[in-house]
Amino acid sequence: MTAAPAYCPHCGTMLEERRREGRSRRFCPDCEWVVYRNPDPAAGVLVVREDPPSVLLVKRSSAPAAGRWSLPAGYLEWDEPAPDAGIRELHEETTLSVAPADASLLSTRLRPGAHGGYTLVVIYVASAEDVDGTPSAGSDAAAVRYFEPAELDAAALEPEYRPVFEDAIDTVTGDQGAGGSPS
Ligand SMILES: [Zn+2]
Repeated sequence: MTAAPAYCPHCGTMLEERRREGRSRRFCPDCEWVVYRNPDPAAGVLVVREDPPSVLLVKRSSAPAAGRWSLPAGYLEWDEPAPDAGIRELHEETTLSVAPADASLLSTRLRPGAHGGYTLVVIYVASAEDVDGTPSAGSDAAAVRYFEPAELDAAALEPEYRPVFEDAIDTVTGDQGAGGSPS
């Protein structure tokens, strides 16, 4: 759900605003349908290399954040588990393959999305040792390369993801993450 609908999706009546469960929600006065708005789920996989410690990022070629370096990620299909979606997006954007058992949950981010909605991004991490293939830019990616921690300073990142990138690298160096609590 992105933009809040103006009309009831079931009977077409113009929706009203009602207080329900502590929030103002759109409500159909005719069929009593309540519109619950939820974030759109997305998933991605960060591949990390141990020597030197670094994380694989893609340069986005389309909105949002076109031209910025970010994680390979995309929206879930309606019946697709989050790990499968993250792995699929990794393959589409970098041509790399990884088995679901080798992708671990790292963090989540709630990000403003299109049309006034939000996207909940579920982020996995996988070791380059468990990944098949050589990174190369696929769909939605203009370029793909590994970044060491010091290189993140100068890179045009999607800035909200910076602590997540650092936490991903920390999984191979054994450091404890400092700023990567889920949001
Ligand atoms: Zn209705």
